[in-house]
Amino acid sequence: MGTEARTGTDAPGTGTDAPGAEGPGLGNLASEDPRTGETIAVHPVAGAEQVRAAVDTARTAARWWEAQGYRGRRAWLAEFGRVLARGAGELAGVIARETGKPHDDALLEVMLAVEHLDWAGRNARRVLRRRKVGSGVVGVDQEASVGRRPFGVVGVIGPWNYPVYTPMGSIAYAMAAGNAVVFKPSELTPGVGLWLAQAWGSLAAPQPVLQVLTGDGSTGAALCRGGVDKLAFTGSTATAKKVMAACAESLTPIVAECGGKDAMLVARDADIAAAAEYAAFGGFGNAGQTCAGVERVYVEEEAYDAFVAELGARARAARAGEAYGPMTMPEQVGIVRGQIADALSRGARALVGGEDAVRGRLIDPVVLTDVPEDAPAASDETFGPVIVVEKVRDLDEGVRRANASRYGLAASVFTGDAERGRAVAERLRCGAVTVNSVLGFAGVPALPFGGVGDSGFGRIHGDDGLREFSVAASVTVTRFATPLRLMTLHRRRRDMRMARAMLRLRHGR
Ligand code: NDP
Repeated sequence: MGTEARTGTDAPGTGTDAPGAEGPGLGNLASEDPRTGETIAVHPVAGAEQVRAAVDTARTAARWWEAQGYRGRRAWLAEFGRVLARGAGELAGVIARETGKPHDDALLEVMLAVEHLDWAGRNARRVLRRRKVGSGVVGVDQEASVGRRPFGVVGVIGPWNYPVYTPMGSIAYAMAAGNAVVFKPSELTPGVGLWLAQAWGSLAAPQPVLQVLTGDGSTGAALCRGGVDKLAFTGSTATAKKVMAACAESLTPIVAECGGKDAMLVARDADIAAAAEYAAFGGFGNAGQTCAGVERVYVEEEAYDAFVAELGARARAARAGEAYGPMTMPEQVGIVRGQIADALSRGARALVGGEDAVRGRLIDPVVLTDVPEDAPAASDETFGPVIVVEKVRDLDEGVRRANASRYGLAASVFTGDAERGRAVAERLRCGAVTVNSVLGFAGVPALPFGGVGDSGFGRIHGDDGLREFSVAASVTVTRFATPLRLMTLHRRRRDMRMARAMLRLRHGR
């Protein structure tokens, strides 16, 4: 980006290309290229003071931003989208460098994020503008309406696996709803966050409506306590609990988008080759580092052998480092290896790969079966290119086992009968279901996204996503003096007689 970024007060988020640069706050962190292990840049770790200063700056920005109105914000957001679209190749390069994912995957991520930004900007007025509501019989003298006000300053804490698409699901909708945003990207992807802030800065808007603070978990914790009016968190369930506890101190509301253990159900009448193709993409794509990726597959017994053959062929044909990148987070390698080893030690069978699929930070596709339901490979989020495939008697058993997870983010169903797919979708305990595809919801901005249980609560995207970042503001205006005078310290007996009669007539029969 050509223009200087507005990265918080005194630019605490500006990275340098040389290792060892000094910054304010709590020292520095180095971002690295997972493909080579090379240091990309060193960024400051923003401390509580910088977080407070950024939130103060954001508060001023929020006043300006709210005053732009829906039309003004829509124009700014459209301009922001144009900058992202024009710079998509460059941004994808930063994503690829910091996460290790293929450039094309990174580009698709940017494309999806821009679609959401565009939708949020165009739909905010429709969803959030003040609208009249019926005032009912008792309130007949009142004209009633409900509007939505922005919170003010929204703190966004993001993960590294989709470092643009995922946080933009909060940032775009929060901004469209009229809030200023202070974003703390993952310490693994600070450059992506800075690129976004620079993109906003390049618009020459008079206020930094989007600021980015680089840092680690301590910066995230400081943001929770930094005076924001709402906190949007995306990351693991364990961290969400810490975020919630920190935000509880000031009763700051949060939306939590956490992990998943998503299941795919395959019916005997499904297009088995298509199901296997999607399972491979959903399970191995992005090295399995997808919150709503495919981690478990339950296949009706008549289709099991065919499905395993199709999936096995695809798994064997895909190599880490070619079809997808390395594990972005070094610590995740041990978790994935541990889950594979544990499952095998408990009697599971590796249909493809095994422990030897782990080659340093590269992990080739692994397909396991006969995994005990209480083994971590079947019950915990793996976040690696491992799919557990199990045979089930029928879809009822598949639904039962899919729902037996403490997570509930998304699921998929493959069947030749779309009606049946819809019926099964209604029974799955999670936030989103796709029939005959995976992750189909990701490209539909109108669909709210979020989970239940350990996958979190609240929604980003869609109308609900806009409402998530706004507060209902009710107004009644007295339109005439009613003959029935109940809101007075001097009620007449006749008024109470009529009130009692009304209660009986309306509800007591
Ligand atoms: P983490 O929970 O480790 O971190 C998420 C963010 O929280 C990071 O920015 C992290 O900073 C920050 N953080 C860490 N500690 C604290 C703290 N005490 N207080 C406040 N913030 C803190 O998740 P990952 O980054 O490893 O992301 C992977 C997880 O995200 C997976 O579980 C995945 O399923 C989930 N996810 C969910 C999505 C959804 O929409 N439901 C989408 C994408 C991912 P730092 O990185 O600097 O430690």
